Amino acid sequence: MYERLTKCPLCKSEQFINHLVVKDHAISKESFIICECQNCKVWFTNPRPTEENIATYYDNPSYISHQDKSKNITDLVYKAVRKYTLNQN
Ligand SMILES: [Zn+2]
Repeated sequence: MYERLTKCPLCKSEQFINHLVVKDHAISKESFIICECQNCKVWFTNPRPTEENIATYYDNPSYISHQDKSKNITDLVYKAVRKYTLNQN
Protein backbone atom coordinates (compact mmCIF):
# COMPACT_ATOMS: atom_id res chain seq x y z
CA MET A 1 0.00 0.00 0.00
CA TYR A 2 2.76 2.38 0.93
CA GLU A 3 6.37 2.54 0.04
CA ARG A 4 8.72 3.89 2.63
CA LEU A 5 11.45 5.77 0.92
CA THR A 6 14.99 5.35 2.11
CA LYS A 7 16.44 7.62 -0.53
CA CYS A 8 15.52 11.00 -1.87
CA PRO A 9 13.35 10.48 -4.96
CA LEU A 10 15.21 13.27 -6.71
CA CYS A 11 18.90 12.99 -5.92
CA LYS A 12 18.96 9.56 -4.20
CA SER A 13 20.60 10.96 -1.12
CA GLU A 14 19.93 8.97 2.02
CA GLN A 15 20.16 12.01 4.21
CA PHE A 16 16.80 13.50 4.87
CA ILE A 17 14.92 14.63 7.94
CA ASN A 18 11.28 14.42 8.94
CA HIS A 19 10.12 17.94 8.37
CA LEU A 20 6.48 17.93 9.35
CA VAL A 21 3.46 15.70 9.59
CA VAL A 22 0.38 16.29 7.52
CA LYS A 23 -2.91 14.64 8.21
CA ASP A 24 -5.31 14.11 5.37
CA HIS A 25 -8.54 14.93 7.19
CA ALA A 26 -10.63 14.93 4.05
CA ILE A 27 -10.18 11.52 2.54
CA SER A 28 -7.93 8.91 4.00
CA LYS A 29 -7.59 10.20 7.59
CA GLU A 30 -4.03 9.08 7.35
CA SER A 31 -0.94 10.99 8.16
CA PHE A 32 1.97 11.65 5.92
CA ILE A 33 5.38 12.69 7.03
CA ILE A 34 6.98 15.29 4.89
CA CYS A 35 10.68 14.81 4.63
CA GLU A 36 13.23 17.32 3.55
CA CYS A 37 16.26 16.10 1.71
CA GLN A 38 19.39 17.52 3.25
CA ASN A 39 21.15 17.46 -0.07
CA CYS A 40 18.78 18.97 -2.62
CA LYS A 41 16.17 20.39 -0.20
CA VAL A 42 13.26 18.79 -2.00
CA TRP A 43 10.24 17.94 0.13
CA PHE A 44 8.51 14.64 -0.33
CA THR A 45 6.00 12.53 1.55
CA ASN A 46 7.13 9.43 3.34
CA PRO A 47 5.76 6.88 3.28
CA ARG A 48 4.12 7.69 0.01
CA PRO A 49 1.17 5.82 -1.41
CA THR A 50 2.04 3.42 -4.15
CA GLU A 51 0.54 4.10 -7.55
CA GLU A 52 -2.06 1.47 -6.92
CA ASN A 53 -3.08 2.97 -3.62
CA ILE A 54 -2.99 6.52 -4.86
CA ALA A 55 -5.96 5.73 -7.07
CA THR A 56 -8.22 5.75 -4.03
CA TYR A 57 -7.59 9.45 -3.69
CA TYR A 58 -8.88 10.06 -7.15
CA ASP A 59 -12.19 8.41 -6.45
CA ASN A 60 -13.45 11.34 -4.44
CA PRO A 61 -14.67 14.09 -6.77
CA SER A 62 -14.39 16.75 -4.08
CA TYR A 63 -10.75 16.21 -3.63
CA ILE A 64 -8.35 19.05 -4.23
CA SER A 65 -7.24 18.68 -7.78
CA HIS A 66 -9.49 16.53 -9.87
CA GLN A 67 -8.63 18.76 -12.81
CA ASP A 68 -5.12 17.50 -12.84
CA LYS A 69 -4.77 14.20 -11.07
CA SER A 70 -1.04 14.06 -11.37
CA LYS A 71 -0.79 16.94 -8.90
CA ASN A 72 -3.01 15.44 -6.26
CA ILE A 73 -0.49 14.60 -3.58
CA THR A 74 1.59 17.56 -4.57
CA ASP A 75 -1.36 19.82 -3.82
CA LEU A 76 -1.85 18.20 -0.45
CA VAL A 77 1.75 18.84 0.38
CA TYR A 78 1.61 22.34 -1.00
CA LYS A 79 -1.43 23.25 1.08
CA ALA A 80 0.11 21.74 4.17
CA VAL A 81 3.30 23.65 3.60
CA ARG A 82 1.39 26.86 3.06
CA LYS A 83 -0.58 26.30 6.26
CA TYR A 84 2.61 25.47 8.08
CA THR A 85 4.24 28.61 6.76
CA LEU A 86 1.29 30.75 7.81
CA ASN A 87 1.47 29.31 11.30
CA GLN A 88 5.02 30.50 11.60
CA ASN A 89 4.01 34.15 11.15
ZN1 LIG B 1 17.57 15.04 -2.61
